[in-house]
Amino acid sequence: MLNYKNNDPYIEGISLYELVQVCETPFYVYSQEKIIDQVNKTKKILGDNIFYSVKSNSNQAILRLMQSLDIGADVVSSGELKRAVDAGFDPNKIIFEGVGKSEQDLLYAMHKNIRLINTESLAEIKLLNNLAKEKNKIVDIGVRLNPDIDGETLSKISTGKKTDKFGIEIDNIDKIIELVKTCKSLNLVGISCHIGSQISKIEVYKNMFNQMKKIADKFFESGIMIKHIDLGGGFHVKYKDSDPDFNIEMVKQELDNCFAKTKYELSFEPGRYLVAEAGIIITSIITIKNNGGIDYLIVDAGMNTLIRPAMYGAHHEILAINLKSEEFIDYTIAGPICESTDIFSKNIRLAKQKIGNLLVIKNTGAYGKVMSSNYNSRPLPSEILVNNDNY
Ligand code: PLP
Repeated sequence: MLNYKNNDPYIEGISLYELVQVCETPFYVYSQEKIIDQVNKTKKILGDNIFYSVKSNSNQAILRLMQSLDIGADVVSSGELKRAVDAGFDPNKIIFEGVGKSEQDLLYAMHKNIRLINTESLAEIKLLNNLAKEKNKIVDIGVRLNPDIDGETLSKISTGKKTDKFGIEIDNIDKIIELVKTCKSLNLVGISCHIGSQISKIEVYKNMFNQMKKIADKFFESGIMIKHIDLGGGFHVKYKDSDPDFNIEMVKQELDNCFAKTKYELSFEPGRYLVAEAGIIITSIITIKNNGGIDYLIVDAGMNTLIRPAMYGAHHEILAINLKSEEFIDYTIAGPICESTDIFSKNIRLAKQKIGNLLVIKNTGAYGKVMSSNYNSRPLPSEILVNNDNY
């Protein structure tokens, strides 16, 4: 995302040095152009039924941008629903999911007349039916299923195995069908699943598509006319060179193989894939020290700014702004937080640094700022969206 003009780093048409003048580090910077390219590519390959997973980055400017690109929104709380509505998403293009929706959440979603509420338990279906009946409404719902498919991804971001807390077990399909037939205030229009994030193996998509098609047919045959199959998100983003290559066109190929001439409307809910590579963090070096032979750069971004390395062991490439030096050193990059897991990367070779230099933490557009916190009573990081020569 960074480009160099006369040795100065730029994001689109804006100099990084200009941004540092107006914003205290650490802060996030996003490239509007990169987001637009990624959304357009995804729509071109998978079709227009894309529902942006708001949880990955719910910055209001990014939500406005997403809705201007004519995609829908996938939200998991009343807060995200409010943000999506405020950003101008047509309620008919908003899906509400989440493993634990409160009565207030369900009432709010009903009140906003959104496209559908994806239910995740038999108890939730009953509750929603009662609430809809009280309000004299017929509510369109989906059912998020747990297809018992291993996403073959990091265990901490796997969501589709039988023992995971998400969705309704597929062994319970007969119970869902029986229940839904008695719920006169609900209209079951779709099924969905999301088996995890960072899914790169095409075999996994193939199994999931086939499983979902079989399930949709089962609903249909039992007299419940499913219209949509929502196939979740989870598309893989390459965070380091050794990560597997992922090609979304292969997903499309499997989709076509499985759903040729389908009667179902197919949709996806990507988050990370649309925004991860469009974001970076700019952080300053606060101090430099050697402890036990380790060369530490202590920076002002910490696990409160970006929690993924501490929480998931996730890798983010880190670049120095000064690329040239007589000397290169293997540094460990750590944040200022009083936790020993507050480390971004170990032993990365950078040009020799000095206090006050800037570093860039790459690919932080997804699950970055949204997961930041005030831990250690530190302020939340700012966010800047760059659009050509404006920000
Ligand atoms: N849909 C649901 C239900 C999710 O839980 C998630 C993320 O956890 C997503 C979509 C988006 O996943 P990703 O950002 O990996 O595309």
